[in-house]
Amino acid sequence: MEVSATPILETKVESLHGIGPARALLFAALELRTVGDLLRHLPFRHEFEHAEEEVAAAALLVPPEGANLAVRGEIVAVRVTPGRKPRIEATLSDGSGTVRLVFFNAPWMKSKFHPGLRGIAEGKAKSRSGYIEMSNPKWTSLASGTAENAATEPASREARLRPVYAASESVSSALIEQTLAPLLLPACAAIQDPLPAAYRELHALPILGDAYRAFHAPRDLDELAAARRRLAYDELLTLQLAVAIRRRLREDGGASVLATSPRLEREIFARFPFKLTAEQVRAFHEIATDLGHSTPMNRLLQGDVGAGKTAVALSAMLLAKSSGAQSAIMAPTELLAEQHLRSISKFLEGSNVRVALLTGSLSASQRAALRVKAKSGEIDMLIGTHALLTDALEFQHLALAVIDEQHRFGVAQRAVLRSKSGVDRTPHMLVMTATPIPRTLALTVYGDLDVSVIRAKPMDRQKIHTRLLPSARADEAYQFLRTRIEQGEQAFIVVPAVENSDLGLKAVATHLTFLQQGALHGLRLASMHGQMKSEERDATMTRFLNHELDALVATVVIEVGVDVPNATVMVVEHAERFGLAQLHQLRGRVGRGTKGGVAILIGDATTDDGHARLEAIRSTDDGFKIAELDLAIRGPGEFFGARQSGLPPFVVADLTRDLPLLELARRDAVAWIARSPRLAAPEEVLLRRKILHLYGEAFGLGDVA
Ligand code: ADP
Ligand code: MG
Repeated sequence: MEVSATPILETKVESLHGIGPARALLFAALELRTVGDLLRHLPFRHEFEHAEEEVAAAALLVPPEGANLAVRGEIVAVRVTPGRKPRIEATLSDGSGTVRLVFFNAPWMKSKFHPGLRGIAEGKAKSRSGYIEMSNPKWTSLASGTAENAATEPASREARLRPVYAASESVSSALIEQTLAPLLLPACAAIQDPLPAAYRELHALPILGDAYRAFHAPRDLDELAAARRRLAYDELLTLQLAVAIRRRLREDGGASVLATSPRLEREIFARFPFKLTAEQVRAFHEIATDLGHSTPMNRLLQGDVGAGKTAVALSAMLLAKSSGAQSAIMAPTELLAEQHLRSISKFLEGSNVRVALLTGSLSASQRAALRVKAKSGEIDMLIGTHALLTDALEFQHLALAVIDEQHRFGVAQRAVLRSKSGVDRTPHMLVMTATPIPRTLALTVYGDLDVSVIRAKPMDRQKIHTRLLPSARADEAYQFLRTRIEQGEQAFIVVPAVENSDLGLKAVATHLTFLQQGALHGLRLASMHGQMKSEERDATMTRFLNHELDALVATVVIEVGVDVPNATVMVVEHAERFGLAQLHQLRGRVGRGTKGGVAILIGDATTDDGHARLEAIRSTDDGFKIAELDLAIRGPGEFFGARQSGLPPFVVADLTRDLPLLELARRDAVAWIARSPRLAAPEEVLLRRKILHLYGEAFGLGDVA
């Protein structure tokens, strides 16, 4: 007897029965080199295969409305109806009766069928005045196709679930299935389960080897569901463990403790010309609690456009100041940084807080001066753009960094801030966003962020009225706009394109001319779009802010954060082409002052769905509701950011339906890492290796040492 020295999972595909070096190469093209690879190559779906029926029996079984059927037999006649859409009819006989197979739009089938060919037809069958007809059935030819060798055909099959694998032209799903089949049981028996038995029992999960076996060759749907749950849990747990480790690494080294007190809080709140809303105060308390600990904060402040996030951030920054430490706030554009500077300076008027601005347009000498002050502690709050990260600047003691409207703020940027902080501690981090993050995402990609939410807007915030207009009535919008402008207000006109294209969409330059020569003649208009240089854009925006312009014809570049209190009207052309969340962000640009805002969405929705979307945006101004709607309409494939995050995709887990499992995995991972922060126990080796392999780089986990 031969004893193989190679463990089964490492056995090369090449050495398997029936696979030589040439075929092995074809398998290798699918990354299938060993039995272990085959086992990990999970089917991406399963197909229900029907039992074969005798035609005579089927004739009784198939109701007039149709049923799924599989029949095996021999083609006895082929007929082609020529024409623009040729129709091919083949008669299949199994001895007990005949079935008619009809193929539309498949002229190539003509050469495929010939009398004497044997095979299996499966698909939807209908009963038509006494005979059974199948339209476009799936056809599988058998053997070399003569009745004589029917004896060597595979036995008539039973109903079963069949795996469907990612395959190639030369390595079919069926071939993968056949290759794996004889090895499946011994290979699965060789799989070590990295999950401790206690977890398995607690969540009633099958052991890993059984789950693999059942996923490749399920006996029934229940078994498949249990296997799926186990494999999905593993994927989610691995990610959540990586997230928990990242969190532990971030928290290593600690942060500066920034204390608060009721008195200090009163002093801070007194800085604002308005009373903070209950939600702003609650968000502030959540932040202040974090800042009072030496564990670095990593918090997301989520709040709709105009919710008043800046006041909350500034309050936190003032806590840093009162502890004698520095803070910084980073905005995505110079314009927004300047806007923060203006509003923050206004709130701090008459205080001893020293504020400065750092952007890319500072001269070398200005930067040098700023660096000196940041290092010596003569600046308390530094407001800026990305230049904050790239400049050679160093702080005396940076305790808190606020990141405005930036989602992809990662490990690397955090490390940069830490290296600039001037102390051997990680700055507390507050990330602000107006884009609601669906719960599934908050738990995965952003899984180590705590979240504070400001749901309500300040009470005296003017409501934005949203109207829908068909494009044929666009003139009414321009007339309305003219009236408002003549009353001293300002407006945005948003178009979907920068340049004309064959899509026939309004574009910035031509629309500007069109309005200047027509409905808005004599008014001060300018254009703005993403292809302009940022200085040019900022200059235009500044003129708009100073009311040297009445209206801006722009693309969505104005979407992010711009605050022009005197702008009250927003006209969006081709509104049906924008995402719901985007329309919501856009209209949030108007009505930020004391006057009410009006958003006019000009568009011709061509579908019911399109109409429903526009109607939805008209009838609600709850940004969270809109984000959920948007997600529901665009589908899970569009989970923003998730794909660009550089994380490996899940194979089995599906975030749209596995939320409960995700939460389970998260709880388990947190408890696990609390108990075993380094995953250093011998029984954790496998898991740890897997985590590093999948997430080590993306999460900057190093070697988890
Ligand atoms: P966002 O959350 O979109 O960043 P901002 O912080 O820019 O919102 O706030 C929008 C406007 O609302 C600003 O002019 C701000 O001064 C004002 N504001 C903030 N909080 C309140 C409040 N509690 N009451 C009245 N106005 C407020
Ligand atoms: Mg803001």
